[in-house]
Amino acid sequence: MEVITEPPQRILVVTPHPDDAEGGCGATMAKWIKESGTEAVVLMCTNGDKGTADREIAPAELAVIREREQRDASRVLGVKDVVFLAYPDGTLENTQKFRGQVVREIRRHRPDIIFCIDPYRSISHTHRDHRMSGQVALDAAYSYAWSHLHFPGQIEEEGLQPHMVKEAFLWGSESPDVFVDVDGYLEMKADSLSAHASQMTRRTPEERIERIRTGTANQGEKVGLAHAESFRRIEFDLGSMAWLFLNS
Ligand SMILES: [Zn+2]
Repeated sequence: MEVITEPPQRILVVTPHPDDAEGGCGATMAKWIKESGTEAVVLMCTNGDKGTADREIAPAELAVIREREQRDASRVLGVKDVVFLAYPDGTLENTQKFRGQVVREIRRHRPDIIFCIDPYRSISHTHRDHRMSGQVALDAAYSYAWSHLHFPGQIEEEGLQPHMVKEAFLWGSESPDVFVDVDGYLEMKADSLSAHASQMTRRTPEERIERIRTGTANQGEKVGLAHAESFRRIEFDLGSMAWLFLNS
């Protein structure tokens, strides 16, 4: 168990649906961006066009609403950019095309840490898009993005360079081992979630902040903090290839 005290310079948050990233690492983004100038980019994999029980609203209409809500939520947190892949909700697959799209954003934004949902749960089930986006994010970071021989067109034609992501922080994990002190950033997290108005119909803003307060207090308690967001960390080990990148 470790409390992270040195914020990274750049992070890429790979997330399946509008509102997932804010729930998973919203307060961490807010804190690092505000206090340390961390550059955060959100890669939104689907358009969330099936996230409603309202039979009056068409998927295409919902997709437009949710893209706007995502932009608003990211603005609350100070996110630098949101990239929309716009796959229809529920259709993510671990394909070469999808991996290439995530690799492209890794090479463009060159994050120190990639954030995604933990795709490897053994006790609880989660949305298929959550598993797929988590797997593809991890696969893209290791071992596609760092090798010029993977997706060479991005290097030869788009002018990008290979990039080695140092580590992944997985939210929604059953066994978190790193923690970020988010005391003072619970309101920003709540506000960013409230921006997803089409999804936030079950709770009032007061209930939302209370739920966040309880959840972050439970995580914080594990490491002696009042409030924390927690993640499972995966450190990528390039072994003998690492010198190529560490010396470049
Ligand atoms: Zn989701």
